[in-house]
Amino acid sequence: METKKTTETTPTSKMNILDLLKNILPFVLPYKWLIAATVTLTFIGSLMAQVNAVVLDKTVDAINALIQTPNFAWDKATQILITISIILLGKEVLSMVITFFQRYFGEKMRILVSRDLAVKVIDRMLSFRMAFFSSEGNETGKLQSRIDRGIMSLSSTVNNFFIEILPLFTSAILALALMFMANVYVGLVALCIVPIYFYVTYVQAKRMKGGRRSIFGSHQAVSQGILNIIESITVIKSFNREVIESKRQEAIQQQMTDQQLNIRKQSYMFNGLKSFLEQIGTVLIIILTAYLVLIDYPGMTIGKIMYHVMLFSNVSAPIRQLHRIYDDMNDALIYAEGFFGILHADHEVEDSGKHHPQSVKGDFVLQGVDFTYSNGTQALFGVDMHIEPGKITALVGLSGAGKSTVVNLLDKFYHPDTGSIKLDGVDLSDWDTQWLREHIGLVLQKNHIFSGSIEENIKYGNPEATHEEVMEAAKQAYIYDQVMQLPDGFETSALQLSGGQQQRVAIARMFLKNPPIIFLDEPTASLDAIATEQIKASIDAIKAGRTVIIISHNIGQIIDADTIYVLQQGRVVQSGKPDEVYRQGGAYKEILDASARSMNVDKIASVMEEA
Ligand code: ADP
Repeated sequence: METKKTTETTPTSKMNILDLLKNILPFVLPYKWLIAATVTLTFIGSLMAQVNAVVLDKTVDAINALIQTPNFAWDKATQILITISIILLGKEVLSMVITFFQRYFGEKMRILVSRDLAVKVIDRMLSFRMAFFSSEGNETGKLQSRIDRGIMSLSSTVNNFFIEILPLFTSAILALALMFMANVYVGLVALCIVPIYFYVTYVQAKRMKGGRRSIFGSHQAVSQGILNIIESITVIKSFNREVIESKRQEAIQQQMTDQQLNIRKQSYMFNGLKSFLEQIGTVLIIILTAYLVLIDYPGMTIGKIMYHVMLFSNVSAPIRQLHRIYDDMNDALIYAEGFFGILHADHEVEDSGKHHPQSVKGDFVLQGVDFTYSNGTQALFGVDMHIEPGKITALVGLSGAGKSTVVNLLDKFYHPDTGSIKLDGVDLSDWDTQWLREHIGLVLQKNHIFSGSIEENIKYGNPEATHEEVMEAAKQAYIYDQVMQLPDGFETSALQLSGGQQQRVAIARMFLKNPPIIFLDEPTASLDAIATEQIKASIDAIKAGRTVIIISHNIGQIIDADTIYVLQQGRVVQSGKPDEVYRQGGAYKEILDASARSMNVDKIASVMEEA
């Protein structure tokens, strides 16, 4: 196959926090009441967080005044102590209730948002055209982890915002305002320290970003390594390569250990620096307040020293968490980009025409069809074909010749680059895609049994079918008797069936769907001779009176066809009735002769004759 160079299509725009907010908002807004309740609780909680400072301020001043009075009375002191105990304990009880609801509402929001994100992305993915799933970066594992990580990271961002970021910052702003209200100079000192913290955090986050990324890479390498060992255990053991594998894993582990130690070292260093800065802030505030008290500045009492120190600790609390919040946000931005990339991939949505007549005959005409997969592999070159209605057409060719690609195009999974495909005289792109697929049955080599009972699997062909209709379809596909012999009959899990039985379940599903057009893509490959023979009976039954395209390496199935098309490296090289094409010689004769030789037909025939 030829490979064309493709242009890079990966999005270049990087998400910023504003984009993230814009994207996530539609998922949060439906829960207005929850937001309102959480924000109200947050505000009350932030007020509560300042109570200790206020109480301490007043207590110190009151006790100070009391011990300075000449006739000190214990009953007055007891009264003060009882009052502060009631206020502080009452505040704790209230805080406990508020924290509970705040956390519960935040968690509820996370769960609801995560559900909505999942539902939306799955719906979206189901609407995408086939090309999306085969394009680079969307392989099963990668797509799944993009979705999983996206949902996890986005929903926990929502949660973090409501139960951590919002309360911490509201409390910090409130504390700062109280400091300014108590004294402008003290407020200014507190305010000046904030940007220094921000700067240190920024430097820390930047330094540690690379480290975090390489640890992430090593984690992936470790799990990939374990997976490889499990998958290739037979090869490893049969070649006695346990030591090599063990050494390889040890090297990865060692690399990860170094990275982890390095990142921890940096993290502790920066945390130490930040604690030190915080202490400098506290010391500055103590000195300034003490000085103001000493010079008898209006409103400055000894209680204000504690008051300011405690308020300052509320101001610096969120800044202590800033680094973690910054990391979480960074992760969220990375994962959000991948996740919302899926939600916004409008160009991937499968298109559909409007044409849906009463019935379809199945007369396909392909003219000059070229087709290239999104990875740049050109699979078809100027293909001309006429699939006659009510007849059996076989596509023949070596592996990779482009046979399945033809079927993919006829089922509208992909669109040709150039050339036209018409069905009953109407361009395929004008057909209503869903309606068309309702009238086409596709039986593949494997991979079409879902977890669920045999009956459920057959019913997938027509969810409205009755039990009797399902049984009838099973009989037509020659699977009924075998299933009835199982202890649980049609309730048995379909995944327990053998390959040949599963294939007949798929054919029974086709009988139930009853489409006028059927595509069979190597339905008996990977099956043994007995299963192939049993399936041949089911296939012969379903072929009657329909337009059938069959791809097969099985000579028996090819020579039964009315017409064959022989493909070679994406081009049609021969076509016509099987025996006529054989007489022409060429590719078909080569394939057929090789098949006969590989099966040792002459020997088989003589053995059978002798018997
Ligand atoms: P056949 O059915 O004759 O074995 P296919 O139609 O499956 O051949 O494949 C034709 C060519 O297209 C091969 O080179 C194959 O590698 C390539 N191809 C098939 N499917 C895809 C895909 N989803 N993405 C990229 N290339 C593909």
